Amino acid sequence: MTQTHVSAATTPRQLAMVMDLNKCIGCQTCTVACKMLWTGHGGREHMYWNNVETQPGQGYPRGYAAMGGGIDSGGDPRLGDLPAAEDYGIPWEYDPQQALFEPGDSPWLRPHVEPTSGPNWDEDRGSGDFPNTYYFYLPRMCNHCSDPPCLKACPAKAVYKRGQDGIVLIDQSKCQGFQMCVRACPYKKSYFNAATGRSEKCIFCYPRVEKGVPPACAAQCVGRIRHVGYRDDHDGPVWKLVDQYKVALPLHPEWATQPNVFYVPPTAPPAFAADGRTAGERIPRAFLESLFGPGVHQALATLQTEREKKARGVASELMDTLIGFRHAEMFKLA
Ligand code: SF4
Ligand code: SF4
Repeated sequence: MTQTHVSAATTPRQLAMVMDLNKCIGCQTCTVACKMLWTGHGGREHMYWNNVETQPGQGYPRGYAAMGGGIDSGGDPRLGDLPAAEDYGIPWEYDPQQALFEPGDSPWLRPHVEPTSGPNWDEDRGSGDFPNTYYFYLPRMCNHCSDPPCLKACPAKAVYKRGQDGIVLIDQSKCQGFQMCVRACPYKKSYFNAATGRSEKCIFCYPRVEKGVPPACAAQCVGRIRHVGYRDDHDGPVWKLVDQYKVALPLHPEWATQPNVFYVPPTAPPAFAADGRTAGERIPRAFLESLFGPGVHQALATLQTEREKKARGVASELMDTLIGFRHAEMFKLA
């Protein structure tokens, strides 16, 4: 298909994804589907175009949220830090021969280094004091932002946004490896490939999308948490969840990139007081607001109201949409 090149936030149509965090089971099927398809080798070993991290937690690459980047108040890209190799984690392989059949306590990982970080390193650690501990899973991918700092910061003009669907891509024939996209992306979803000397990122599975097939991470999602569609399609699930019901929110809206991946915020069983009675919310509201912005309060209130309606047997279009009775109806790619 011919690709229309658009320089910034002027795409006529925008493809987007909504993920319901109440349904993610942290199985990493999406991560594996993406890695098998796109990033298994060739200097891409450290790249997780899709990763699923435990929150509260360091995320991937480690500590990315404090590395900076985004769009400043004047509309210009901000350059943050480059993650260190250790923040991605040094890729290792298990050496079963050494682990199982060779005596002694020599290391049985290849390379023979003690890893200190990696994707999903702090899985299920979470936060809080027993019995009120809590965590949830946060799948992350490139947000195919409407105002992408990766695009604005690239001196080679290698990063572009497709006119037909707003997918943000890096033209490998133009990239000169300056890594300004890596520095400017506050989500750290552009990755440098040392083997090719160029940067690469999630392509929203555009070869699949062009055939009317959803991205692999969404198609394979065991929990059916992912809805895919166009922002302006009023019959599609994305518009309903983002614009009509306002229960799907961008991650870190204060970074001002205008993400097109949205999250239905998570809820949890209530917290318990010392006398065993329930005592308020388990996941601190302030923590959720720090991730999803002030819109999280109204979103959670709407979810609560609609859940109660559904429990009483009253029809709820919102709940039916989130349940996703038929997987195919969670995707609207035309
Ligand atoms: S998430 Fe990062 S890499 Fe993706 S479009 Fe936004 S700024 Fe660019
Ligand atoms: S496949 Fe779906 S349920 Fe499993 S980790 Fe990924 S987003 Fe969560």
